[in-house]
Amino acid sequence: MAQQSNPFLTAQQQIETAAQFLGLEQHVIEILKRPMRVLKVTFPVKMDDGSIRVFDGFRSQHNDAMGPTKGGIRFHPDVNEDEVKALSMWMTFKSGVVGLPLGGGKGGVIVDPRTLSKNELEQVSRRFFEAIAQIIGPDKDIPAPDVYTNPQIMGWMMDTYSRLKGSYSPGVITGKPLSIGGSKGRGEATAQGVVFTVIEAMKQLSKPLKNATIAIQGFGNAGRNVAKLLSELGSKVVAISDSKGAVYDQNGLEVDRIMKLKDVGNILDYGSEYQIDSHELLELDVDILVPAALENVITLDNADRIQAKIIAEAANGPTLPEADKVLFEKGILVIPDILANAGGVTVSYFEGVQNAMNYYWSEEEVKSKLETIMVDAYHQVSEIAKKYQTDLRTAAYIKSIKRVEEAMVARGWV
Ligand code: GLU
Repeated sequence: MAQQSNPFLTAQQQIETAAQFLGLEQHVIEILKRPMRVLKVTFPVKMDDGSIRVFDGFRSQHNDAMGPTKGGIRFHPDVNEDEVKALSMWMTFKSGVVGLPLGGGKGGVIVDPRTLSKNELEQVSRRFFEAIAQIIGPDKDIPAPDVYTNPQIMGWMMDTYSRLKGSYSPGVITGKPLSIGGSKGRGEATAQGVVFTVIEAMKQLSKPLKNATIAIQGFGNAGRNVAKLLSELGSKVVAISDSKGAVYDQNGLEVDRIMKLKDVGNILDYGSEYQIDSHELLELDVDILVPAALENVITLDNADRIQAKIIAEAANGPTLPEADKVLFEKGILVIPDILANAGGVTVSYFEGVQNAMNYYWSEEEVKSKLETIMVDAYHQVSEIAKKYQTDLRTAAYIKSIKRVEEAMVARGWV
């Protein structure tokens, strides 16, 4: 069977697979397979040299039956409409898996932010937010950080929206700096959620986390914090990659040193003797593989060579459906994106709650509330997987789709 790597088709296929177990009516599946709204925008930005560059961006709102749509904004040269649509669909089911009163959305701008000055980045951020502002709002659609966006960008976007509205509106976006209504623990939340699910999965396999070997593909916000948190728990991070390449040491890498190298430029400066090809990282004989970058990383081309016991998807959409089947047959435990990386949106939700109360929690409070949600969700999904004799991804969809369907019925949509 030919593999397709369009994430929108991947998301649709995942929905259909889970729907087979649920006996859903066709119109319910049809609603879930498409976003309810996609806004495509084009906007000009004056660059530092005085030239005008025209940018394209998207905001997809998949389903708001459970609450306002919610999900990040990605800045990346490969962003496209189908990718953003898929990412918005995954957000709906992510919120559903952990039981948040939110729907799913996602945005993206076609840009390589690494080529922009700070001023240009600010202009792109503000102009994009202005362009989508009419469909955004604390009760409508609430963005957040994603690939190559960060708290500073959220701050600019919040400011743009607040100025448009003429009132302070922190609830319009999450992942903000602490000084303007950000939540403690949001920066590490995605990684922390991944780690909470990994802890439960390792317990199920009766394997200790201490000295467990870890390979991490991608060293952005999620990847670097997974590396930090798991090494603090005594695991051995043996391989790390980013867009420039990969480093490997079977005795364990010095995570702190790699974080510093990343900040000043290049993780490959760790030492030429440690360099390996990025695709080799995925096939290493490790306990836990953490894809923490982009989509379409585990495919039919490499699935049968993967040796990890657990794959914890910090990234969205790293595994293609055909590869999922191979991994399931090989007995590899895949903790799917919509469960594993739901910690990010969960603490985003906490951020929104704190903004609405205008009262802020301690880091311990955030972390313990996150732990309760992630551990419960992991075990509920695991039970469903057992009941239906299926993988955790399909089980996570089963749990989530039921919840979205219930909300749609309650609202009289179906
Ligand atoms: N971009 C993150 C994700 O893919 C976080 C979304 C959010 O916090 O709303 O889950």
